Amino acid sequence: MNAPYLDPALPVTERVADLLARMTLAEKVGQMLQLDARGDLADLVTGKLGGSLLHASPERMLQARDLVSTTRLRIPLLMADDAIHGHSFWPGATIFPTQLGMACTWDPALLERGARAAAVEIAATGLHWTFSPVLCITRDLRWGRVDETFGEDPHLIGELGAAMIRGYQGDGLTDRTAVLATAKHFAGYSETQGGRDASEADLSRRKLRSWFLPPFEKAAREGVATFMLGYQAIDGIPITTNQWLLNEVLKGEWGFTGTLVTDWDNVGRMVWEQKVAADDIEAATVAVGAGNDLIMNTPQFFVAAQEAVARGDLDEALIDDAVRRILALKFELGLFEDPRSPDSEVQAAVIGSDEHTAINLETARRSLVLLRNDGTLPLDPAEPTRIAVVGPNADDVHAQLGDWAGLSGQVNWMGDGHPREMTRTVLDGLRDTAPESWTITHARGADIGDLVPDPAGATYPDGQPRPPLFRAASPDADLIAEAVAAAHDADYVVAVVGDTVALTGEGKSTATLELQGGQTALVDALVATGTPVIVVLIQGKPSTLPDSILNSAAIVEAFNPGMQGGRAIAELILGHIEPTGRLPITFARHVGQLPVYYNQIRGQHGDRYADLTQDPLFAFGEGLSYTSVEYSDLRLESETVAVDGTVRATVTLTNTGDRLALETVQAYIADQVTSVTWAERELKGFAQATVVPGMSVDVMLEIAASDCSLVDADGVRRVEPGTFDLLVGRSSRDADLARTTFRIELA
Ligand code: BGC
Repeated sequence: MNAPYLDPALPVTERVADLLARMTLAEKVGQMLQLDARGDLADLVTGKLGGSLLHASPERMLQARDLVSTTRLRIPLLMADDAIHGHSFWPGATIFPTQLGMACTWDPALLERGARAAAVEIAATGLHWTFSPVLCITRDLRWGRVDETFGEDPHLIGELGAAMIRGYQGDGLTDRTAVLATAKHFAGYSETQGGRDASEADLSRRKLRSWFLPPFEKAAREGVATFMLGYQAIDGIPITTNQWLLNEVLKGEWGFTGTLVTDWDNVGRMVWEQKVAADDIEAATVAVGAGNDLIMNTPQFFVAAQEAVARGDLDEALIDDAVRRILALKFELGLFEDPRSPDSEVQAAVIGSDEHTAINLETARRSLVLLRNDGTLPLDPAEPTRIAVVGPNADDVHAQLGDWAGLSGQVNWMGDGHPREMTRTVLDGLRDTAPESWTITHARGADIGDLVPDPAGATYPDGQPRPPLFRAASPDADLIAEAVAAAHDADYVVAVVGDTVALTGEGKSTATLELQGGQTALVDALVATGTPVIVVLIQGKPSTLPDSILNSAAIVEAFNPGMQGGRAIAELILGHIEPTGRLPITFARHVGQLPVYYNQIRGQHGDRYADLTQDPLFAFGEGLSYTSVEYSDLRLESETVAVDGTVRATVTLTNTGDRLALETVQAYIADQVTSVTWAERELKGFAQATVVPGMSVDVMLEIAASDCSLVDADGVRRVEPGTFDLLVGRSSRDADLARTTFRIELA
């Protein structure tokens, strides 16, 4: 066949028009389906004529490609998956820290390198598209998906998200290692009620524009290829059909011309869950009408959309619009000429390669946040030392890798997960790294808990699966006694506690933030031995911490630090590396303090509860070093800036300790008087600087005056000229910030 659409010399629009004109309605609707490849593949590809698959195992990736060659038009499939911190479900791929861990680095360039490395691995396996990055803002720590986010700040999220998008998409879609990125979950999905996953988001348009949309706008302007739409509804309208958000804002104001994908069965959910559509035909009609392109895992859309057209409810021209966008993407990727099939030779060369492991190790090192240190750390490698490594996460690969990796439950082909030897746990790391004269002992000490079937039954009344329940373990006297004995025989205890993937993820929000199972009893008993206890937290989100941990010798936050996490933690404990991570998220002292994010709106009476302080346990931006860095002489290039100008400030950092510092200098602004109530302070810039002991460096920060904006009462983002505070320092806490003022004036 010599059809024009097969001619790579023709412009994409001509090829799309030619192909579209040849397609039946069924073929067009099929293109809009993104189906779960774990189902009956022949039905998905040759029956429903699916245009895209997700969750294909390595074998099914090949089978799917072969099935396409039996279809009439042989339109290549778009293969997609959640390769969100590395190629999550490819055995042996490089698994990086989760996004929350990555965010602790505050280093966009490093994340871009990581995403590029991941893309090279992803592309080698036949995947074209990853559902990453997550641009949701964490505001309720009970939510189960905090680990997937970059934390709580729109500016930091925007910078890090844009970096990952650049990394995934590389030099442009024609590059064979380019992988489509996804800005998700658009928008406001994280604004849950009570932390409950996908509950209706109580968001005004003004609040969306103020905090939730900016990272997505940045992603759109960065050229992200796709947007995924959140599960939830806002003000009664599911995102999937939210004309304002999808058409006025995303496609209109931001000029996004890429592809939209729903989240998992969003279209079906309108019928069986949200009950805003009477049947699948109505749901298909409104979903297409709102401008959705790929419909994720709503197989009945195939018949329903055709029926909607037959009935005259749905204009086929709207289906044509969606299919045009999908086909354009496939042509732009060059899939008709080269479907980018799995390539075992390239896989052998790049998957889990030394080069990628090195980037992963660097990311893990930079992701560690030292939260407390009474001077115990770093340990002195010159002194023969006995270390007792205890705790349920000391040697737990899955807790270390976190959700969306290996055995985290989303896919069915990972066997035992990633090869064990690829992950260095804290126990491995200390054994590998500590001097030979050291003694490393190990005791588990406590269990966290497990998942058990919900006694209410395996399915809900409508047949949907009911997730299992978390059952916390009880403190185990024998395990604790063994750990206490090890602590007595040791010079230091490294206690690795936190959570497990059973407490993280979709449908796994938590009502409390406490360490679960026997962990608090374990740490209480360890601290009572008098042996200094170094606590390492491996967890998907900030927990509230018991007094025993707060009174321990040191606390290291490691979130889910990925395959190299244990090695990085050992290096930190031994002082081979410097602690450089900074928190992208605030820690509560008690779940009742929520929300605790730092950029709260002014106007509250007082600043505490009658029965508890509002002061958070650890604030956004915090993190210690092994040295001390003083900030001085904050000065402005000019105290007055035009609205189209740039605020330039310089601060001097002096390393007054005796170890190297990599300091993350944070710049916040506060608009002194605003026409509407607004945030106490907002991060607007940051810079990282290395300072050697005894030396000083000047760090320059630049903030565009146009970024010193707010969203006014009419929902319009604008700069209000006037006086602003500039706050520069090592964290968002008042005590850590130097202050000056500048004026923004009309040009
Ligand atoms: C999640 C998305 C994910 C999709 C595909 C959904 O349940 O919300 O983040 O990309 O599943 O696995």
